[in-house]
Amino acid sequence: MNIGFIGLGNMGRPMALNLARAGHALTVFDMAPASVDALAQAGATPAASAVDVARVPGLELLLTMLPAAAQVRSVYLGEQGVLAAVAPGVLLLDCSTIDPMTAREVAQAAAARGNRMLDAPVSGGTGGAEAGTLTFMVGGAEADFAAARPVLAQMGRNIVHCGGAGNGQVAKVANNLLLGISMIGAAEAMALGVALGMDPQVLAGVINTSSGRCWSTDTYNPYPGVLPGAPASRGYSGGFGSDLMLKDLGLATEAARAVKLPVAMGALAQQLYQAFSRQGHGGLDFSAIIRSIEAKASA
Ligand code: NAD
Repeated sequence: MNIGFIGLGNMGRPMALNLARAGHALTVFDMAPASVDALAQAGATPAASAVDVARVPGLELLLTMLPAAAQVRSVYLGEQGVLAAVAPGVLLLDCSTIDPMTAREVAQAAAARGNRMLDAPVSGGTGGAEAGTLTFMVGGAEADFAAARPVLAQMGRNIVHCGGAGNGQVAKVANNLLLGISMIGAAEAMALGVALGMDPQVLAGVINTSSGRCWSTDTYNPYPGVLPGAPASRGYSGGFGSDLMLKDLGLATEAARAVKLPVAMGALAQQLYQAFSRQGHGGLDFSAIIRSIEAKASA
């Protein structure tokens, strides 16, 4: 397939690499030239701008993996944006995590230009992106979902149609509300056990065969050294930035406000990540929140 890919960060880069490996003709762009170079080395064609990706002759599918709604708006709706340049009929697929309202607005703007669009945020972290085992939560028309599915299956394992435009984002926001809360819980449990004298490996082993087990303990444990492949074991670099988790908790609490649903635990998690970010740690992986808990414990 002739595919464009915009946004080659922690997630977009490995996702695009999987598409390149699958043999697609790939044209890529990111504001960071180093990320574009990495894809060019894997056989992708570098583009000088988002518009240049949108204008690729014969383009069939255009994917974006951007930080937040502001970048999605600018890349799709801006004067130099994708919608101003892309040919009608090209299927658009935004994998960024953004609010459902913006996703619906961009999908409507795309439809007005004759382009089908899906929101397809992901879960599974950078490890899942590298291994091609992501979960895709997809919102949009059934026929467009069916058309995108084979390509999504080259980057992910669970591809779920969640309903109409924006519903992929609804599923994602609900999942990440739980993830933010569970990571803080995992961090408290690990910090507590170690502060009371337990070996972190032994403690993690017990939790992971007991009722406290969750993704934040068995796949992404926040305690350094417990899981060699987790960001905690490499100084909390890479992975899923704390500021991105703060963004997602903001999306969840905003969405909850729209339907007047109380999300007390999510709101508390948001405040804890907000404090962590204010202390200058927003660029660290979100599991680094354990540092603020350990700091309090030793104060
Ligand atoms: P990232 O910050 O590492 O990557 C974003 C990329 O977009 C960067 O390379 C940046 O240069 C590029 N970019 C920004 N504005 C641009 C523009 N106008 N034009 C072109 N490129 C632009 O973020 P990430 O970790 O890859 O996350 C991307 C999205 O995926 C976010 O919405 C995030 O919430 C979501 N997500 C991340 C993870 C994770 O574990 N990192 C997991 C699930 C979902």
